Amino acid sequence: MPDVDVAILGGGCAGLSLAARLAGTGVSFRVIEPRTAYADDRAWSFWRTAEDPFRDCVRASWSRWSVAGPGGTVMRASRAVPYQTVTSGAFYDKALALIDACPQGAATLGHRAEAAIPAGGAMQVETTAGALTARHVIDARHPARRPVFGQYFLGREIACGSAVFDPRTVPLMHFRRGYSDGVDFLYILPFAPDRALVEVTSFAATSPSRALFGRWLADELDALGIGAHDVLREEAGALPMQAGFADPPAPGTVRIGLGGGAARPSTGYAFQRIQAQADALSRQLAAGAPLRTPLDPPMTRFMDRVFLQVLRGAPERGPALLESLFRNAASERLERFLSGSTRAADRLSVMASLPPAPFLRAAAWPA
Ligand SMILES: Cc1cc2nc3c(=O)[nH]c(=O)nc-3n(C[C@H](O)[C@H](O)[C@H](O)COP(=O)(O)OP(=O)(O)OC[C@H]3O[C@@H](n4cnc5c(N)ncnc54)[C@H](O)[C@@H]3O)c2cc1C
Repeated sequence: MPDVDVAILGGGCAGLSLAARLAGTGVSFRVIEPRTAYADDRAWSFWRTAEDPFRDCVRASWSRWSVAGPGGTVMRASRAVPYQTVTSGAFYDKALALIDACPQGAATLGHRAEAAIPAGGAMQVETTAGALTARHVIDARHPARRPVFGQYFLGREIACGSAVFDPRTVPLMHFRRGYSDGVDFLYILPFAPDRALVEVTSFAATSPSRALFGRWLADELDALGIGAHDVLREEAGALPMQAGFADPPAPGTVRIGLGGGAARPSTGYAFQRIQAQADALSRQLAAGAPLRTPLDPPMTRFMDRVFLQVLRGAPERGPALLESLFRNAASERLERFLSGSTRAADRLSVMASLPPAPFLRAAAWPA
């Protein structure tokens, strides 16, 4: 008999999302995670289009967001599909508490998974805490591949002495020129009039340097009229924006999280798609069914490929293209599409809101 039904390699967003669901099913599992303690290291924001077990970790919810490009500012609003932020600190606490309360689940912290090898009808997992055997191995570690195009960002949560931010509206993409050679924009999560996460972001082939991001962020804080302030938290990231981006799974394993293609290629958003992967796998594991993570349908993959080809080929056109998407796509359809919706009506609305010429060229001549 294997030691556990499921070994989960990596206790980050994807590994813990799966473990939190398995904790209620009777399926036995072990999470292997190198961290010895978790910090509130990131904020996950997304348009909520589905339920997940972390609803009580939502720190803020907005029903308005703005995009500012060469043609002016576009305001969009939706109460049905709000933009929400889950704090990772609350998420990690909740997931670890669910695992703790589960007699057939455990998290081994402070140890790394090193290899997973098929052995006699089960899997042998080598870890720095010794070996264990499992019926299934779910690999939720960081991707080993490097993307050819990505979303790079540096953000600081700040508290300042005056009311600078409008907490009713998220400045989602306020485009800038002259920083990187990609598509640059400012993103703000305004938690209160005097408190926000201010983030500078590039969609680019390579990451701008930390020094450039630091200068740019300082410029933005100056432009907002923010004088003395406290930095409460800093976050930086590099997310894949590449159609078909995923590590090939090792034999006998299933790949989830960023390494399993969870980031939406045209945006880098991953949180909700990770929740969808965890929902599907926990259902299949509880039912003893074959394991399969949800795949993007061919039409969605084609649209992502064409969109990214246009963006990479002519980043200077990115601000106008993205602005026209937010200006013209029907309310909520774009937000659902960016969150991973596969509905044909959402897709059509997005296609109809973009200028056809560059996309037809990219569709006809794949790079
Ligand atoms: C700062 C930041 C902000 C983000 N904001 C958003 C957002 O607003 N919205 C959104 O949709 N997405 C966002 N993302 C993208 C994405 O949702 C996150 O990166 C998310 O954490 C990805 O989950 P994951 O499980 O794939 O990776 P991680 O959460 O990074 O988990 C990977 C885990 O693998 C572990 N690991 C590494 N090596 C080993 C090993 N040898 N053995 C075992 N475990 C190992 C790591 O310690 C880690 O815990 C953000 C990413 C970052 C970095």
